[in-house]
Amino acid sequence: MTMSDTLNGQCLCGAVTVTAKPGDDGLHACHCTMCRRWTGSAFVGMAIAPGDLTANGPIKTYVSSEWAERSFCDTCGSTLWYRVTLPGHEFNHVAAGLFDDAGGQALTKEVFIDSKPDGYAFAGDHTLVTKEEMLAIFAKIGGKTE
Ligand SMILES: [Zn+2]
Ligand SMILES: [Zn+2]
Repeated sequence: MTMSDTLNGQCLCGAVTVTAKPGDDGLHACHCTMCRRWTGSAFVGMAIAPGDLTANGPIKTYVSSEWAERSFCDTCGSTLWYRVTLPGHEFNHVAAGLFDDAGGQALTKEVFIDSKPDGYAFAGDHTLVTKEEMLAIFAKIGGKTE
């Protein structure tokens, strides 16, 4: 599979189906407090440009801050995507678990690495970004919290 292949995925119950065309960024894991509560551990997703994601089904969206929201299947609760809603900075991170074999993608980055519990870790070499570094990036684009 090449990076530009279109991926077809679905939630646990199959009611939500998604079609996505990933960029070449690979998978990012987020260990922030909100992602950990939302997913149960870390959120692993892939960046999908707004025009490259289509989804159908009973999608519920939780507005988790003034500038980001998190969507899930209203039937089975599966995590679907994290979306930044700041004007001019809209993008999606779509849950890797919706796709067979994580869409054939590999982990390239972990963010909020210092919020990760000590009890588990992802193997392999990838970029690590701290909470302070992430908040600086968010501050630059107008966000306020994680
Ligand atoms: Zn579902
Ligand atoms: Zn997060």
